[in-house]
Amino acid sequence: MKRCVFFLILLSAINAYPQDNYSRQRERMVETQIAQRGVTDERVLAAMKKIPRHKFVPIYLRGFAHRDSPLPIGYNQTISQPYIVGLMSQLLELRGNEKVLEIGTGSGYQAAVLSLLCREVYTIEILKPLADSARRRLEQLGYHNIEVKHGDGYLGWPQYAPFDAIIVTAAPDQIPPKLVEQLKEGGRMVLPVGKYFQTLKVVRKVKGQIKEENIIPVRFVPMIKSKNKVKPKKKKCPCSE
Ligand code: SAH
Repeated sequence: MKRCVFFLILLSAINAYPQDNYSRQRERMVETQIAQRGVTDERVLAAMKKIPRHKFVPIYLRGFAHRDSPLPIGYNQTISQPYIVGLMSQLLELRGNEKVLEIGTGSGYQAAVLSLLCREVYTIEILKPLADSARRRLEQLGYHNIEVKHGDGYLGWPQYAPFDAIIVTAAPDQIPPKLVEQLKEGGRMVLPVGKYFQTLKVVRKVKGQIKEENIIPVRFVPMIKSKNKVKPKKKKCPCSE
């Protein structure tokens, strides 16, 4: 019996150690890479200490999950650097009751962080395998206020518009007009814009007009232009007139 208890304790210690270790790595990541660089929103810092970032990177990269850099997630895409996730989340100025649209689901990590900061997250991913795996991952981890859609982010998600806030995590050349349309009056959009030289911008919609603020130079993967754009309506066949 004693032996049995001993093994049980030993087993749970072995199981608990890595978890504990990851949470310590997250604490350190948030303190040294995010808070010390000026992200002060306590809700953002707390969310990033909580979300298990190592579960959003490929298993063979788990040891690097808390590094101060983006990491590959397959299909030539990346999970953003922790500092950028923290900064963009703070720039959205979420208070807890918002409906937020994210373009570029990727691993689902940014969506998971947002899910702790607002009421509902709608996130769109253009690459089907990434959309499917992020949806599965977010479900398994129990984030129930996130909807993942496979589709083209340039078109937004009109069904759920308008959004209180929009975040774009791949870089378009220009601010996508459909996203501006789907932003609520008084809402904020945070996005990188540009080809080689990109700028992180905050776009606010005030009385129907947009006001842009440049934050910092950044480097994101480019936003992919869908090949199957909305097809133009077929002309009626003259013979059927
Ligand atoms: N937010 C992600 C990282 C984003 S990487 C995370 O937390 O892991 C950028 C993502 O945007 C990629 O997964 C890429 O496939 C996606 N993307 C690129 N162009 C897109 C488009 N037009 N519509 C939707 N998603 C797009």
